Amino acid sequence: MTAQIINGKAIAENLLASIKLKIDARIVAGKRAPCLAVILVGADPASAIYVRNKRKACEKIGIRSIAYELSADTSEANLFTLVDRLNNDATVDGILVQSPLPPQIDEERLIERINVDKDVDGFHPYNIGRLAIRQPTLRSCTPFGVIKMLQAVNIDLMGLDATIVGVSNHVGRPMALELLLAGCTITSCHRHTKDLAGKVRNADLIIAAAGKAGLIQGDWIKAGAIVVDIGINRLADGSICGDVDFNAAKARASYITPVPGGVGPMTVATLMENTLLALELKEKIS
Ligand code: NAD
Repeated sequence: MTAQIINGKAIAENLLASIKLKIDARIVAGKRAPCLAVILVGADPASAIYVRNKRKACEKIGIRSIAYELSADTSEANLFTLVDRLNNDATVDGILVQSPLPPQIDEERLIERINVDKDVDGFHPYNIGRLAIRQPTLRSCTPFGVIKMLQAVNIDLMGLDATIVGVSNHVGRPMALELLLAGCTITSCHRHTKDLAGKVRNADLIIAAAGKAGLIQGDWIKAGAIVVDIGINRLADGSICGDVDFNAAKARASYITPVPGGVGPMTVATLMENTLLALELKEKIS
Protein backbone atom coordinates (compact mmCIF):
# COMPACT_ATOMS: atom_id res chain seq x y z
CA MET A 1 0.00 0.00 0.00
CA THR A 2 1.13 3.55 -0.68
CA ALA A 3 -0.62 6.23 1.27
CA GLN A 4 -2.49 9.10 -0.23
CA ILE A 5 -0.57 12.24 0.71
CA ILE A 6 -2.88 14.84 2.24
CA ASN A 7 -2.10 18.18 0.64
CA GLY A 8 -2.65 20.48 3.63
CA LYS A 9 -1.36 23.43 1.66
CA ALA A 10 -4.06 23.07 -1.02
CA ILE A 11 -6.81 22.43 1.56
CA ALA A 12 -5.70 25.53 3.48
CA GLU A 13 -5.73 27.60 0.25
CA ASN A 14 -9.35 26.55 -0.32
CA LEU A 15 -10.26 27.47 3.23
CA LEU A 16 -8.57 30.87 2.86
CA ALA A 17 -10.45 31.46 -0.40
CA SER A 18 -13.78 30.72 1.30
CA ILE A 19 -12.94 33.08 4.19
CA LYS A 20 -11.99 35.77 1.68
CA LEU A 21 -15.39 35.45 0.01
CA LYS A 22 -17.09 36.00 3.38
CA ILE A 23 -14.94 39.04 4.12
CA ASP A 24 -15.56 40.48 0.63
CA ALA A 25 -19.30 40.03 1.22
CA ARG A 26 -19.01 41.90 4.52
CA ILE A 27 -17.32 44.83 2.80
CA VAL A 28 -19.99 44.91 0.07
CA ALA A 29 -22.61 44.98 2.85
CA GLY A 30 -20.89 48.00 4.41
CA LYS A 31 -19.38 46.12 7.35
CA ARG A 32 -15.75 46.37 8.38
CA ALA A 33 -12.97 43.82 7.85
CA PRO A 34 -11.79 41.70 10.81
CA CYS A 35 -8.62 42.85 12.55
CA LEU A 36 -5.84 40.73 14.07
CA ALA A 37 -3.13 42.10 16.37
CA VAL A 38 0.07 40.05 16.16
CA ILE A 39 2.69 40.51 18.87
CA LEU A 40 6.23 39.22 18.49
CA VAL A 41 8.57 39.44 21.48
CA GLY A 42 12.27 39.07 20.69
CA ALA A 43 13.96 37.96 17.50
CA ASP A 44 13.59 34.16 17.36
CA PRO A 45 14.05 33.44 13.61
CA ALA A 46 11.40 30.67 13.45
CA SER A 47 8.87 32.89 15.26
CA ALA A 48 9.60 35.72 12.84
CA ILE A 49 8.79 33.37 9.93
CA TYR A 50 5.54 32.18 11.57
CA VAL A 51 4.46 35.78 12.23
CA ARG A 52 5.29 36.78 8.66
CA ASN A 53 3.21 33.88 7.29
CA LYS A 54 0.26 34.84 9.46
CA ARG A 55 0.46 38.48 8.37
CA LYS A 56 0.75 37.44 4.72
CA ALA A 57 -2.38 35.29 5.06
CA CYS A 58 -4.23 38.26 6.59
CA GLU A 59 -3.22 40.47 3.69
CA LYS A 60 -4.26 37.88 1.13
CA ILE A 61 -7.82 37.53 2.39
CA GLY A 62 -8.56 41.07 3.57
CA ILE A 63 -8.01 40.81 7.32
CA ARG A 64 -6.42 43.96 8.74
CA SER A 65 -3.32 43.04 10.73
CA ILE A 66 -1.45 45.19 13.20
CA ALA A 67 2.11 44.15 14.07
CA TYR A 68 3.87 44.77 17.37
CA GLU A 69 7.54 43.89 17.59
CA LEU A 70 8.80 44.11 21.15
CA SER A 71 12.39 43.65 22.28
CA ALA A 72 13.46 40.41 23.95
CA ASP A 73 13.88 42.22 27.30
CA THR A 74 10.32 43.62 27.32
CA SER A 75 8.90 43.31 30.82
CA GLU A 76 5.79 41.29 31.57
CA ALA A 77 4.13 44.49 32.79
CA ASN A 78 4.79 46.22 29.45
CA LEU A 79 3.40 43.33 27.48
CA PHE A 80 0.32 43.13 29.72
CA THR A 81 -0.27 46.87 29.23
CA LEU A 82 -0.29 46.34 25.47
CA VAL A 83 -2.63 43.34 25.78
CA ASP A 84 -4.98 45.36 28.02
CA ARG A 85 -5.04 48.17 25.46
CA LEU A 86 -5.87 45.73 22.64
CA ASN A 87 -8.50 44.02 24.82
CA ASN A 88 -10.21 47.40 25.20
CA ASP A 89 -9.92 48.39 21.54
CA ALA A 90 -13.26 47.64 19.88
CA THR A 91 -11.64 47.66 16.43
CA VAL A 92 -9.36 44.70 17.30
CA ASP A 93 -10.99 41.25 17.03
CA GLY A 94 -8.10 38.88 17.68
CA ILE A 95 -4.88 39.06 19.70
CA LEU A 96 -2.03 36.67 19.04
CA VAL A 97 1.23 36.57 20.96
CA GLN A 98 3.74 34.36 19.19
CA SER A 99 5.46 31.75 21.36
CA PRO A 100 8.07 30.94 22.59
CA LEU A 101 8.29 33.89 24.95
CA PRO A 102 11.38 35.09 26.84
CA PRO A 103 11.75 33.72 30.39
CA GLN A 104 10.60 36.90 32.20
CA ILE A 105 7.11 36.42 30.74
CA ASP A 106 4.81 33.82 32.26
CA GLU A 107 3.01 32.35 29.24
CA GLU A 108 0.00 31.04 31.15
CA ARG A 109 -0.57 34.39 32.87
CA LEU A 110 -0.30 36.09 29.49
CA ILE A 111 -2.84 33.77 27.88
CA GLU A 112 -5.28 34.40 30.72
CA ARG A 113 -4.79 38.15 30.28
CA ILE A 114 -6.15 38.03 26.72
CA ASN A 115 -9.89 38.62 26.52
CA VAL A 116 -11.53 35.19 25.88
CA ASP A 117 -13.46 36.71 22.97
CA LYS A 118 -10.20 37.79 21.30
CA ASP A 119 -8.30 34.56 22.04
CA VAL A 120 -8.04 33.54 18.38
CA ASP A 121 -5.28 31.02 19.20
CA GLY A 122 -7.87 29.17 21.31
CA PHE A 123 -5.42 28.74 24.20
CA HIS A 124 -7.33 30.44 27.03
CA PRO A 125 -8.52 28.01 29.75
CA TYR A 126 -12.09 29.20 29.07
CA ASN A 127 -11.89 28.23 25.40
CA ILE A 128 -10.17 24.90 26.19
CA GLY A 129 -12.93 24.29 28.76
CA ARG A 130 -15.64 25.02 26.18
CA LEU A 131 -14.09 22.37 23.95
CA ALA A 132 -13.88 19.93 26.88
CA ILE A 133 -17.63 20.27 27.55
CA ARG A 134 -18.51 19.85 23.86
CA GLN A 135 -19.44 23.49 23.33
CA PRO A 136 -16.44 24.82 21.41
CA THR A 137 -16.21 28.51 20.57
CA LEU A 138 -12.72 29.67 19.60
CA ARG A 139 -10.83 26.41 19.04
CA SER A 140 -7.05 25.89 19.16
CA CYS A 141 -5.80 26.45 15.62
CA THR A 142 -3.56 23.43 15.07
CA PRO A 143 -5.90 20.72 16.45
CA PHE A 144 -8.98 22.23 14.80
CA GLY A 145 -6.98 22.64 11.59
CA VAL A 146 -6.21 18.90 11.69
CA ILE A 147 -9.91 18.08 12.05
CA LYS A 148 -10.83 20.30 9.09
CA MET A 149 -8.05 18.80 6.99
CA LEU A 150 -9.30 15.25 7.67
CA GLN A 151 -12.88 16.32 6.92
CA ALA A 152 -11.71 17.85 3.63
CA VAL A 153 -10.52 14.43 2.43
CA ASN A 154 -13.75 12.82 3.68
CA ILE A 155 -12.23 10.76 6.47
CA ASP A 156 -14.94 9.59 8.85
CA LEU A 157 -13.49 9.88 12.36
CA MET A 158 -16.43 8.34 14.20
CA GLY A 159 -15.34 5.30 16.22
CA LEU A 160 -11.68 5.35 15.17
CA ASP A 161 -9.00 4.35 17.68
CA ALA A 162 -6.74 7.42 17.77
CA THR A 163 -3.31 7.62 19.39
CA ILE A 164 -1.95 11.11 20.02
CA VAL A 165 1.74 11.42 20.83
CA GLY A 166 2.22 14.61 22.84
CA VAL A 167 0.09 16.19 25.56
CA SER A 168 1.09 19.87 25.56
CA ASN A 169 -1.49 22.50 26.49
CA HIS A 170 -1.47 24.08 23.03
CA VAL A 171 -1.32 21.02 20.78
CA GLY A 172 -1.60 17.48 22.20
CA ARG A 173 -4.30 18.07 24.82
CA PRO A 174 -6.73 20.11 22.69
CA MET A 175 -6.06 17.58 19.88
CA ALA A 176 -7.28 14.80 22.19
CA LEU A 177 -10.39 16.84 23.04
CA GLU A 178 -11.10 17.51 19.35
CA LEU A 179 -10.82 13.82 18.49
CA LEU A 180 -13.03 12.86 21.42
CA LEU A 181 -15.60 15.37 20.18
CA ALA A 182 -15.31 13.83 16.70
CA GLY A 183 -16.18 10.38 18.08
CA CYS A 184 -12.74 8.77 18.35
CA THR A 185 -11.56 6.57 21.21
CA ILE A 186 -8.38 8.29 22.30
CA THR A 187 -5.04 7.26 23.76
CA SER A 188 -2.77 10.16 24.76
CA CYS A 189 0.95 9.39 24.99
CA HIS A 190 3.82 11.38 26.49
CA ARG A 191 7.39 11.08 27.71
CA HIS A 192 6.45 8.60 30.44
CA THR A 193 4.23 6.37 28.31
CA LYS A 194 5.18 2.69 28.44
CA ASP A 195 5.35 0.85 25.12
CA LEU A 196 4.76 3.80 22.79
CA ALA A 197 5.23 1.48 19.81
CA GLY A 198 2.37 -0.74 21.01
CA LYS A 199 0.05 2.26 21.45
CA VAL A 200 0.84 3.44 17.92
CA ARG A 201 0.49 -0.06 16.44
CA ASN A 202 -3.10 -0.32 17.75
CA ALA A 203 -4.20 2.98 16.22
CA ASP A 204 -6.43 3.62 13.20
CA LEU A 205 -5.36 7.28 13.43
CA ILE A 206 -1.95 8.46 14.66
CA ILE A 207 -1.32 12.09 15.51
CA ALA A 208 2.34 12.86 16.12
CA ALA A 209 2.96 16.04 18.15
CA ALA A 210 6.13 15.43 20.14
CA GLY A 211 8.66 17.56 18.28
CA LYS A 212 11.12 14.64 17.95
CA ALA A 213 12.40 13.81 14.47
CA GLY A 214 11.98 10.13 13.59
CA LEU A 215 10.22 9.25 16.87
CA ILE A 216 7.41 7.36 15.13
CA GLN A 217 8.91 4.50 13.16
CA GLY A 218 7.38 3.28 9.93
CA ASP A 219 6.90 -0.32 11.07
CA TRP A 220 4.81 0.90 14.04
CA ILE A 221 2.08 2.00 11.63
CA LYS A 222 -0.86 -0.42 11.29
CA ALA A 223 -1.59 -1.23 7.65
CA GLY A 224 -4.16 1.27 6.38
CA ALA A 225 -3.86 3.67 9.32
CA ILE A 226 -4.14 7.46 8.90
CA VAL A 227 -1.02 9.37 9.91
CA VAL A 228 -1.03 13.08 10.78
CA ASP A 229 2.34 14.62 11.57
CA ILE A 230 2.16 17.89 13.49
CA GLY A 231 5.85 17.90 14.47
CA ILE A 232 8.19 20.49 13.00
CA ASN A 233 11.87 19.66 13.49
CA ARG A 234 14.80 21.49 11.95
CA LEU A 235 17.66 19.14 11.07
CA ALA A 236 21.37 20.00 11.12
CA ASP A 237 21.34 20.57 7.34
CA GLY A 238 18.60 23.19 7.75
CA SER A 239 15.82 21.01 6.33
CA ILE A 240 12.48 20.55 8.09
CA CYS A 241 10.87 17.22 8.98
CA GLY A 242 8.10 15.87 11.17
CA ASP A 243 8.10 13.25 13.95
CA VAL A 244 7.22 10.34 11.68
CA ASP A 245 9.61 8.35 9.49
CA PHE A 246 7.67 9.57 6.44
CA ASN A 247 8.92 7.22 3.70
CA ALA A 248 8.52 4.03 5.74
CA ALA A 249 5.15 5.11 7.13
CA LYS A 250 3.88 6.06 3.67
CA ALA A 251 4.32 2.45 2.57
CA ARG A 252 1.88 1.25 5.26
CA ALA A 253 -0.61 4.07 5.86
CA SER A 254 -3.77 4.86 3.90
CA TYR A 255 -3.32 8.64 4.33
CA ILE A 256 -0.35 10.65 5.52
CA THR A 257 0.47 14.34 5.91
CA PRO A 258 3.81 15.72 4.71
CA VAL A 259 6.06 18.12 6.65
CA PRO A 260 6.21 20.83 5.43
CA GLY A 261 2.95 21.32 3.51
CA GLY A 262 0.61 19.38 5.81
CA VAL A 263 -0.68 20.66 9.14
CA GLY A 264 1.28 23.98 9.18
CA PRO A 265 -0.80 25.80 6.53
CA MET A 266 -4.02 24.52 8.18
CA THR A 267 -2.96 26.17 11.45
CA VAL A 268 -2.63 29.55 9.73
CA ALA A 269 -5.93 29.18 7.83
CA THR A 270 -7.75 28.26 11.05
CA LEU A 271 -6.31 31.34 12.75
CA MET A 272 -7.83 33.44 9.95
CA GLU A 273 -11.16 31.69 10.37
CA ASN A 274 -11.07 32.27 14.14
CA THR A 275 -10.41 35.99 13.61
CA LEU A 276 -13.48 36.31 11.39
CA LEU A 277 -15.51 34.21 13.86
CA ALA A 278 -14.41 36.43 16.78
CA LEU A 279 -15.79 39.48 14.94
CA GLU A 280 -19.01 37.70 13.95
CA LEU A 281 -19.63 36.53 17.53
CA LYS A 282 -19.09 40.07 18.81
CA GLU A 283 -21.60 41.43 16.30
CA LYS A 284 -24.13 38.81 17.37
CA ILE A 285 -24.13 39.92 21.00
CA SER A 286 -23.85 43.69 20.44
P1 NAD B 1 5.97 20.49 23.59
O1 NAD B 1 7.44 20.31 23.70
O2 NAD B 1 5.27 21.49 24.45
O3 NAD B 1 5.28 19.08 23.87
C1 NAD B 1 5.81 17.88 23.38
C2 NAD B 1 5.01 16.71 23.90
O4 NAD B 1 5.56 15.52 23.36
C3 NAD B 1 5.04 16.57 25.41
O5 NAD B 1 3.74 16.31 25.87
C4 NAD B 1 5.95 15.36 25.67
O6 NAD B 1 5.55 14.59 26.79
C5 NAD B 1 5.78 14.57 24.38
N1 NAD B 1 7.00 13.81 24.06
C6 NAD B 1 8.26 14.29 23.90
N2 NAD B 1 9.11 13.27 23.67
C7 NAD B 1 8.39 12.14 23.67
C8 NAD B 1 8.71 10.77 23.50
N3 NAD B 1 9.97 10.38 23.28
N4 NAD B 1 7.71 9.88 23.57
C9 NAD B 1 6.44 10.27 23.78
N5 NAD B 1 6.07 11.56 23.95
C10 NAD B 1 7.04 12.48 23.90
O7 NAD B 1 5.70 20.77 22.05
P2 NAD B 1 4.35 21.34 21.34
O8 NAD B 1 4.29 22.80 21.48
O9 NAD B 1 3.18 20.52 21.71
O10 NAD B 1 4.73 21.03 19.81
C11 NAD B 1 4.94 19.71 19.37
C12 NAD B 1 5.48 19.74 17.96
O11 NAD B 1 4.50 20.29 17.09
C13 NAD B 1 6.72 20.63 17.77
O12 NAD B 1 7.55 20.04 16.82
C14 NAD B 1 6.15 21.92 17.25
O13 NAD B 1 7.08 22.64 16.47
C15 NAD B 1 5.04 21.39 16.39
N6 NAD B 1 3.95 22.33 16.12
C16 NAD B 1 3.49 22.38 14.86
C17 NAD B 1 2.45 23.21 14.56
C18 NAD B 1 1.92 23.23 13.15
O14 NAD B 1 1.18 24.12 12.81
N7 NAD B 1 2.29 22.25 12.34
C19 NAD B 1 1.87 24.02 15.53
C20 NAD B 1 2.34 23.93 16.84
C21 NAD B 1 3.39 23.07 17.14
